[in-house]
Amino acid sequence: MQLYIAGGCGEHGRNCFYIQGDTKNVMIDCGVIVEEGGNIGYPELSDEQIENCELVLITHSHGDHVDALPWLFERGYKGDVVASKFTFEQIPFDVNNAVNLEDICPDGKGEYKGIDITWGRSGHCVGGVWYKLEFDEKVMFFSGDYCFDTQVYACDEIIGKKADIAVIDCAYGKKKIDYQESCFNLIKRMRELFKKHKIIFMPVPKHGRSIELMELVTKNGLTAYFYGDEHIMHEIESIKNYGAWLKFIPNTDKFLPHTNEGEQGIVFISDSQLNKPMQQAIAKDLIDKGAYGLMTGTVDKGSFSENLINQGKMEYFCYPIHLSNIQYNSLKNKNVFACTVAYHTEDFKPPNTIKF
Ligand SMILES: [Zn+2]
Ligand SMILES: [Zn+2]
Repeated sequence: MQLYIAGGCGEHGRNCFYIQGDTKNVMIDCGVIVEEGGNIGYPELSDEQIENCELVLITHSHGDHVDALPWLFERGYKGDVVASKFTFEQIPFDVNNAVNLEDICPDGKGEYKGIDITWGRSGHCVGGVWYKLEFDEKVMFFSGDYCFDTQVYACDEIIGKKADIAVIDCAYGKKKIDYQESCFNLIKRMRELFKKHKIIFMPVPKHGRSIELMELVTKNGLTAYFYGDEHIMHEIESIKNYGAWLKFIPNTDKFLPHTNEGEQGIVFISDSQLNKPMQQAIAKDLIDKGAYGLMTGTVDKGSFSENLINQGKMEYFCYPIHLSNIQYNSLKNKNVFACTVAYHTEDFKPPNTIKF
């Protein structure tokens, strides 16, 4: 059996892993990469691989894991797509042949198309999961984007698992990132910034960081008020429905729609790279009014966010929602994986094909 890496290793984006088994082929995630200059890159898959793929499993709704799905169907894929209910709700386009993970694997386990599937919550966003798959007498593990240290998101720790091959999040690569230290540094910087600015704006992905950051900031008594654009408000209003995906339901009474009138606190903008015109306009407008930006996720080369950082209008302070190399290694030690592959980082580049 072999793992073919169609994207996501040695780069940050277009995550796509293709297992070529003896009796069937299965794909995990199918995302895109936004290249410098705005070009979209797709996974490297042949027509034959697409045609012979029996099932696609999706770990979560972020574009680097799902945005190539319409392209995959255009190129002739005819099988099913499995993901959690909230992942399907968050994906901004209709997915053909969608199969709810919770329906085929209630209580975290099940069998579908001859594949034994075990899944758990990955702590990265609502609906985000890791997978353990078993077929053709081999066991394969995929962490998805994984974060055990969280404020609000529930995570089923990856511990004591056995697999012949494991593909593990290592998005922070060789950077030394410690969760507690990152939180401490972020809060310390916010405290300094609030002495000079009434408003801090934070560009975040549509589904992910805003709830985590709100809780962290509230716990530290930094500001009473939060504001969000339309997408963020939709997520905040949905919190009450998230149930088991959260450790608890945070209080969102002080989270208001962004209007530009008399605001004081943190404004969340639903586009990390601020490349979308609407979100970019919100940031520009806030800067004109004296606001300052804080970015907590990876800055894409050539993005508007990078531009703002270079102009001294925004700063980067990490809020970890992935693993670094140190955490990747410690996760390896807590499990029995015969072979491990680090993905989501430019720092490590395994061969495209790995036999196991
Ligand atoms: Zn993600
Ligand atoms: Zn990702």
